[in-house]
Formats: sequence, C-alpha cells, structure tokens
Amino acid sequence: MDNNRNIDDLSEVEYENLVKDYETTKISINDLIAKYKLDPSCKKFGFYNAFTRYIKTKLGCPNCGARLYREVFPRKTDRRVVYKCFECTHSDVPYCQCDFCRDVRAKELERHRELLEQEQAEEEKRKQEELLKQAYYRAHLIDYLKDQSNQTEFFSFYDLSLEDQIAISSICSKATLIDNTGVLISFELQPGIKENFFPQTEKFELWLEQAFKNRLISVDPHSKIDAFIFNDGSLKIDLNKVNFKIMIKELYDSENYDENLKKIRTMCFSYPETDSFVNNVKELWHEIGYQEIVYYINYRLKLINPKFEEYIPTLKIERCIRSLFKSGVSIGKIQALIHGAVSSTTSYLPNINENLPHIKNHLIFMIEKKAKELLNDHNRFKNAPRDYRICQSDISYIFFNIFLGMDSDKNPNIINETPCNDEVIRSLLQNKKTRNEDSLDEIQFI
Ligand SMILES: [Zn+2]
Ligand SMILES: [Zn+2]
Repeated sequence: MDNNRNIDDLSEVEYENLVKDYETTKISINDLIAKYKLDPSCKKFGFYNAFTRYIKTKLGCPNCGARLYREVFPRKTDRRVVYKCFECTHSDVPYCQCDFCRDVRAKELERHRELLEQEQAEEEKRKQEELLKQAYYRAHLIDYLKDQSNQTEFFSFYDLSLEDQIAISSICSKATLIDNTGVLISFELQPGIKENFFPQTEKFELWLEQAFKNRLISVDPHSKIDAFIFNDGSLKIDLNKVNFKIMIKELYDSENYDENLKKIRTMCFSYPETDSFVNNVKELWHEIGYQEIVYYINYRLKLINPKFEEYIPTLKIERCIRSLFKSGVSIGKIQALIHGAVSSTTSYLPNINENLPHIKNHLIFMIEKKAKELLNDHNRFKNAPRDYRICQSDISYIFFNIFLGMDSDKNPNIINETPCNDEVIRSLLQNKKTRNEDSLDEIQFI
C-alpha cells in the first residue's frame, strides 16, 4: 500500500477516523501521518489546511432540513468553523448567499424601509399639526390682546368697594407704575412685592383673579410674549410675567396724575358715616384681622418646626376665629390666645420634633378651647403686643394706618389693642375728615 498518500486520497471512513483522532485525541501530527500512512509533506502549509472535505453532522439545515456539514475543528485556535448545507447551499455565515437567506434579508430591508417611511409620515403630520396649533394660538392671542386693549370702561377709584380700594391703594403705593399710567411693571421685575400685599400670597392671587374677572384689572397688550401660555387649548396668563393694567380712570388723567396717585395712596376721600359703610369697614377689619391671625399661626408653627406645612384652618377653626372678631375682640387678644395655645401645646408635647400632625391636632384643640374662654370673657386675655419680627402686610398698613389713621408711630400696639366696634370706627372716620382736610391743603400746594 502507498505510504505517501494525500489526505484527499483517504476513503470516507479513513477520513472520518483521522478527523476523530485529530479532534478528540492528543496523538501528535507526526504519529497521525504515520498511522494513516500520509505523505509528510502534507503538513507543509499546516496540517489543518490539508483537511478539505466537510464532516457530516446530525444537525438539520434551518432552510431545507437536509443534514448540515461542517469544517474540521482546528486544534490550536478557536476559529469558528462553518456549517454548510449541500442541498440548498446555505451556510451559517453572515450574509449567506443562499436563496432563502437572500429572500429573508430582502424582506427585512423592505420592512425597514416601510417603517422609516411610516415614521417620516408621522413626523410630517406632527409638524403640520404643530404649525396649525401655533397659527391657532397666535390668532387666539391676537384676539385676546385686542379684547384687552379694547377695554375702555374705566372705574372711578371712589366707586370701588372698600376692599378693592385698599388693595389698589396698596398696589399703587408699593409697585412701580409705567410712565405715569396705571400699568404695572411685571411682578417678576419687582421681586418680593406680590408676597407682601396680603398676609397670604394666595389671598392676593384670589383677589387678583376676581379683579380680573370684574375687569378692574386687565392685561397690558405690550406685555412680554412669554407671559402668555397655551395649555390644553386655552390661554393662560403668567401672573409674574404679565404687565397688569389697573382700570382706574384717575390713573390715566395725565394732567392730574400726581395728585390722583397721591389721593389713592393716602385714601384721601370723604367717606360716609352711614351704618352700611361702618359695617363695610368692620367686615374688612375682621377679614384683614383674620388673615393676619392665620399668618400668625403659621409663623408660630414654623418657629416650632420649620418642617410644618402651610396651615390652612379648618372651617370650624375659621368660624371660631371669625366669631371672636364679630364679638368685638381685638386682634391682640386673639394673638394672645394663639400664643397661649402654642405655649401650652409645646409644654404638653415637649418632643416637638416627633409627631407634627399630633402637635397640629393638639394646637387646634387648644385654640378652640381658649377661643370659648375668650368668647365668654373678653378680658380673659391681655392684648399681645405687636411682634416686630413679623412684617406688616401692605393691605393692613393701608387699612389701619392710612385709611383709619391709627398712628403706630405714636403707639406701636394701637392696631393690636383697638377693639373693632361701631363706636371706634365712627370716631376714626370722624378723625379722618380732619386729616383729609389737612392733607388736601397739602396736595393743593404741590
Ligand atoms: Zn439546506
Ligand atoms: Zn443561507
């Protein structure tokens, strides 16, 4: 028998045995050459490269199901071996060129193209919708601003309700007005202003909303464009960015502007002493007093623990505090009540950091309890002095100090100490007449 055979000369069975020996044993190449009587020159270009035939496997072709054939596993490297189907020419390489794989890839490409087209169409549609929306918004905004600038109905300051007068007077005293008109520079450019008009900013925003509905306040059409926001198809105004316009005719009378502004700031008008007006004053006193008390409760709670959330009185507590005002109790006595309720809460519950809701509940309980005592006996508490750490709100200042003329320079506790009743109000209004006459003289000199 020929001792110098090529691997190609081996029979099917011999070839399979050689591959088995090569792949699964450690018989050296030289011993394999000897064992299978091969020509030693067959390892000239690497023994592995002499294997040219594929080995039949037990695996089926994924395309046609015929048996797959594979290359011989190399001994030294972990090179990936190729599996091949001789029926349909499929092999497990990327970009196999068999009909089946080409077809699969073509279909995938088509699907990809369709998806891309679909995405492009959707993007196009979205852009169109956005453009339409923008056009709609612009038209809507123009209509809105036209409506605002077409507002020609102006109010006379004196005809406003006392509450609106106090609010407008506060705004005119503290906020910056543009070019001798009633147009306000946006609150954004006057930081801190909006927060001090009312004891609570939310109350000011509620007032603003109402004034807006009543057209006492309108929007200046020259406001910055980003003061207008479209949300859910409707136009919203950014309270901080818009320029508000106060619709008071006295503020658009250029000849008498300075004098009018001064009269508004000093509330220098003659008010009737009728029962109904005295009643209006009383109600506003109660309202401002009530808001100051709620502010005071929050202030005290924050002193106990800054983590306390904003306290909003329950209806029961609100009624309770308001009924104290109605019974003629002064602000100072109600503050003393709150002070007492807070003190007994903190001494009763010394671990003030532990259970905030518990503290709040106890405080509410104490406020109710002490309010009943104060209702039964107005002398149950002494007036608490004004707490200088608390900044007086603008409406409180305009109402008590300017409108009612309570001179807190002479007596710092006058607002806290004065009980709210008809007699007191009448005498304050009486004094106001004299003060007005003095300041009118003063105005005429300007
Ligand atoms: Zn196949
Ligand atoms: Zn293929």
